[in-house]
Amino acid sequence: MPGSVLIIDAMSNRRIHLRSRLDTAAYPVDMAESQAEGLARIRQDPPDVVIIADDLPGLRLRQVCKLLRSNPMTQLTTIVVAVQRENHSARVSALRDGAYDVIDQTADAADLKARMRSFLRTRHLSEDTQTPSVPQAAQGMAEAVPDFAPKIVATFVTFPAQGSAPPLQSAIAPESGIDARALAAQAARRAPDAETDVYVLIEPAQGDEARDTLGALLTHPASRHSRILFVTDCSAQRASPLDLGAHDQVPSTVSPTELALRIQRLARRKRDADRARKTTTELGQKAYVDVLTGLNNRTAMEEYLVRTDRALAEYPRAVAMMIVDLDHFKAINDTHGHAAGDTILAHVARTMKSRLRDGDFIARYGGEEFLIVLPDVGPGEARSVAQRMRNAVADSPKAIENGTHVRATVSIGVAMASRSDRLSTADLRRAADAALYDAKRNGRNRIEVAHHAALLGTPQQRMSAGL
Ligand code: GH3
Ligand code: MG
Ligand code: MG
Repeated sequence: MPGSVLIIDAMSNRRIHLRSRLDTAAYPVDMAESQAEGLARIRQDPPDVVIIADDLPGLRLRQVCKLLRSNPMTQLTTIVVAVQRENHSARVSALRDGAYDVIDQTADAADLKARMRSFLRTRHLSEDTQTPSVPQAAQGMAEAVPDFAPKIVATFVTFPAQGSAPPLQSAIAPESGIDARALAAQAARRAPDAETDVYVLIEPAQGDEARDTLGALLTHPASRHSRILFVTDCSAQRASPLDLGAHDQVPSTVSPTELALRIQRLARRKRDADRARKTTTELGQKAYVDVLTGLNNRTAMEEYLVRTDRALAEYPRAVAMMIVDLDHFKAINDTHGHAAGDTILAHVARTMKSRLRDGDFIARYGGEEFLIVLPDVGPGEARSVAQRMRNAVADSPKAIENGTHVRATVSIGVAMASRSDRLSTADLRRAADAALYDAKRNGRNRIEVAHHAALLGTPQQRMSAGL
């Protein structure tokens, strides 16, 4: 992942000094001495990272950030501002104006390189996850504050060397909207708190406990989506916390305002990522859901049956299958209209699902046809589940739009296999289908259970199945 850097600074000695501390073998570094020249370079060949000196004559940082964000070519360019050492107010205003990060003009090479790696990693990450339907907050810009922002939870981890109240926690102003909590390192490693948006780890002068905690938080299921802000004064001699997976890093001299600002930004990015993940999951799930009834659809059913066959071959177990078909449904449509038919169909689906256990499977695989699989049930239980469902449907007429109550009924074909039968779901389905046909023929609104012989199929079927 080569990344290119553009340094914009009017002072040539600083430009050169900064360039010498970047890994020029890894990233091509270009330089410009004014805002106008910098913007021209950016237009010509958009860099991955722009480092701008905050004392650049005529710099209008907010506009530069907006400009880069509004252009698709530079939307993901990381904007970094270099400020005088410990100039707290310059740091805060650069972040407020939309910079993605702020560095010291005098930052050492190890810190700079680690930040570069982290910028490029996140940049590539956002490129990977960017889809038209999931807008990402691009880097280096003032992120919009949502109208309703729930309180941010920041957990300050305490290390034994620091006593029970971690430094900096009390500096977080209540009006920042941050709920600053404290949690002992040991507890954080064992059972992190899933509500936390941002963990703040303040590295004690000695020992590895903060770094061990960082590793534990990044992998624990309850905290791996949280963001981690690492506060440390150590550099050069040790691996950078950013390389170890921390999302942000500041020195312990950080001002309370900057700390709060960084926590807010990390929390916002975490929530954006949570939302993007949720949308992706929902899109994935949509492919398996029947829109009208909310049940599994045919695709989900076919995949489920393949999985079930695989599991049955490995661990034979008792299993029951039912095929359900609404009775005279065509007549319901003809009498009350198709929309009313849809309402009834969804109602019947809900009614049946409510009579099933957690591990049971139900799908709508055709117009008014459903398939149900009950793992691990004996014949008596399968029959009584089928009875319960039939009764529940028949006993719950549904009011349609014009106020009329419509009563639907279902016929159910049931097939069952014991552990020793070693049957496939195709065998069960054939037998359940035959039983459903009997139920229809025998008057509807009833259940028929497949004979064991029907289950085993015709001699030809058995032969072709290798039985
Ligand atoms: P039987 O008791 O023999 O099953 O009679 P039936 O009328 O239910 O059987 P048939 O297979 O002749 O008709 C099924 C009807 O289901 C026809 C079709 O219009 C209707 N149908 C299928 N899918 C939907 C749907 O999504 N919504 C609505 N409203 N009707 C549907
Ligand atoms: Mg039908
Ligand atoms: Mg029908």
